[in-house]
Amino acid sequence: MACNHHYKEFLVALILLSLPQTAWAQTQGAASPPAPPSCNRAAFRAVIDVGHTLEEPGAMSARGITEYQFNLALAKAIEQKLMAAGFSRTMMLVTSGPAMKGLFSRVRNANTTQADVFLSIHHDSVPEQFLENWDHDGKPNRFSNRFTGHSLFVSFDNPELKASLLFGKLLGNQLKARDLQYTRHYTEAIMGSRRRELVDPDAGVYRYDKLIVLRETTMPAVLLEGGMIVNRNDEQTLASPERQALVAAAVTDAVDKFCDQRTVEKARLLALAKRAKKAAKTVKDALKRTFSWPSNPFTR
Ligand SMILES: [Zn+2]
Repeated sequence: MACNHHYKEFLVALILLSLPQTAWAQTQGAASPPAPPSCNRAAFRAVIDVGHTLEEPGAMSARGITEYQFNLALAKAIEQKLMAAGFSRTMMLVTSGPAMKGLFSRVRNANTTQADVFLSIHHDSVPEQFLENWDHDGKPNRFSNRFTGHSLFVSFDNPELKASLLFGKLLGNQLKARDLQYTRHYTEAIMGSRRRELVDPDAGVYRYDKLIVLRETTMPAVLLEGGMIVNRNDEQTLASPERQALVAAAVTDAVDKFCDQRTVEKARLLALAKRAKKAAKTVKDALKRTFSWPSNPFTR
């Protein structure tokens, strides 16, 4: 009986030994990786969503140009830059019709594409009370020079929150690297119900859970407010091809880094699953051997 007890201990030790070894091999593998897997640009799909619709074009700029026009121009520049960089599956999403219907329709379209990342392009205005009147080209318009800068938003209700935050950070950092400053006014009390929590102060990423395009999309999703089109000074810069190219370059670099990190992460999870499968097989084989042995080797 005593021998049989030792035999069981030996078997348990054998099984346990097979497990830490896999964990050890994993950390050893991380210390000297063969070559980290990199992004397959041709297989990666980014969806660039043009905010609002022709029929309901969103905010109005200081000189009376619709936000939709700004969104469309910037989205086109981003799409072109991504395609030129080899992201040939990039898709620009243009939606038509009424606003609410448009929101759900763009989410449906994005979800059916099984995209790897979703970026919604918008341009910003200010709450009603900050708008001032002025005439431009003999026409009455409204403006506010109070705030300046872009901003990024993620929804904590998005099923890929961690990846959404990562993409927001990467994009914010790329914009920052090009000397573009994000606006901090969303943290101010004067923003009332439009006040937001700044979840990444370094990259300028805010939390906005209720945004339908960020909450209902099934892939990592970020919304970019390209800048304040109600700001008379900023509007013309935002409309310039130079600024659009600069933002497009930032998005492309962010997508590239995001794709790289996602590829590494996927490979890591795949390797983990493989090792777990192997460990399970080792245990299974050990058990099989035990129970198929004609007699206990220690009692022989
Ligand atoms: Zn908008």
